Amino acid sequence: MSELPESRLQTTDERGNRVYLFPEDIKGFWKTRRTYFYHFLIFIYLVLPWIYIDGRQWVLLDIPRRVFRIFGVEFYGHDGPLLFFLAAGFVLLMAFITSIWGRVWCGWACPQTVFIDAIYRRIERLIEGKARARKALDKAPWSFEKAWKRSLKWFLYLVASLHIVHSFLGYFVGTHKLFWITLETPSENWGLFMTMLIMTAIILFDFGWFREQFCIIACPYGRFQSVAMDDNSMIVAYDKNRGEPRRSKQTPKDQEGSCIDCNRCVKACPTGIDIRNGTQLECIACTMCIDACDEIMEKLKQPKGLIRYTSENELAGKKISKLQPRSFIYLGLLLILSIALYYSLSLRQNLQVQIFKSSKESAYQVIKSSKSETKYLNHFRVKMFSTQISETIYSIELKDKNSKIKLTIPEPHFKMRSKNFEVPVFIEFSKDILFQGERMVTLVLRDIENNEILHEKEVRLVGPFN
Ligand code: SF4
Ligand code: SF4
Repeated sequence: MSELPESRLQTTDERGNRVYLFPEDIKGFWKTRRTYFYHFLIFIYLVLPWIYIDGRQWVLLDIPRRVFRIFGVEFYGHDGPLLFFLAAGFVLLMAFITSIWGRVWCGWACPQTVFIDAIYRRIERLIEGKARARKALDKAPWSFEKAWKRSLKWFLYLVASLHIVHSFLGYFVGTHKLFWITLETPSENWGLFMTMLIMTAIILFDFGWFREQFCIIACPYGRFQSVAMDDNSMIVAYDKNRGEPRRSKQTPKDQEGSCIDCNRCVKACPTGIDIRNGTQLECIACTMCIDACDEIMEKLKQPKGLIRYTSENELAGKKISKLQPRSFIYLGLLLILSIALYYSLSLRQNLQVQIFKSSKESAYQVIKSSKSETKYLNHFRVKMFSTQISETIYSIELKDKNSKIKLTIPEPHFKMRSKNFEVPVFIEFSKDILFQGERMVTLVLRDIENNEILHEKEVRLVGPFN
């Protein structure tokens, strides 16, 4: 392999076209640990949406109903500030982790790396063989062998992608519901079916072919990490002091460093970079080059760690401190957010009520009640959210009684049968109560046993203007 020009990526040729990589398959200390960890993460990902407690999915992101259940704690659409605490907390946690351990997310936990390494590359190895064989197959003209190997590989990729996408949708649709949906014909759930197809196509394209290009070109997190890191952050780096000058015909034997210029680290790199050129944005800290170089060092009977987890300051022989002021700032903000979230959750009202005008119908309906008088109908939805289901019996009433306004609900007295409960409310009225086609009335939600008004809200009745 020739020395890589620093101005150009290994994954592009001089005309800017994609050069497909065939990274070497490496075994070693870090690879073993990463593989175990990837399997653990995939297991969590696949199993988590199937955990039900008290008949309710433990993690569910129900966007149409605006109910987000995270490890059993329920958030609703109107809990925006609480969801903000959660999202901001996640960003700060990532910033804190990155400030100390660098791009550990990319190498150890990013779904892109985890799925590609643990599933897609494995399928590839199984069918097309080792890196050299894969490269030879790629270069070879089309033949029966190439056709069946490629077909089988992409078929297995498709199966894996379908499985990943269905599990992902389970977090949003609910796994039980999704299971029954999969037994129906696509025409009964076109929207979901098309979402599934599009996502499968994206996953297939990305994990099967695009791969490291996503990390290099598209991933915003890679850029964000550069901001959160400093010279004390942990990186995968080559120890120039020990490695240089590398072995070459020009270097006298007694001056040679530990690097024998075998290029094994470059061939193992899934993003195609040469870590000996220094820390680069394309490095996803996957540790493949560490294992590759350690293998060489072992053969040469030299100490391992020519490429290792270290920091810029440590390499420069400077005093290192893992926790920098910025790490303390991230940690402090994270603590403040956690306390704020905990406090807000404990203060959150047990019962929250929202009243919406039904959007499915026109603003009002005309009801012919008698020959002489025409009545009008408005339809509302009273949405009740509670952190727990109680035995309380409720009623919904009009605050100010008026013989010309009649309220109808299917169940005059009701209990909440779920934590997210909806009651349809119909209000019938005659035209003469309106002023310029409108009238405000107040609905009240009452706890019948304690005769206590729990919530009241003005709603607008709408009828004909003239
Ligand atoms: S340089 Fe090493 S750690 Fe970075 S992406 Fe390449 S193999 Fe992984
Ligand atoms: S694997 Fe190690 S010895 Fe070989 S080129 Fe890379 S750094 Fe040098």
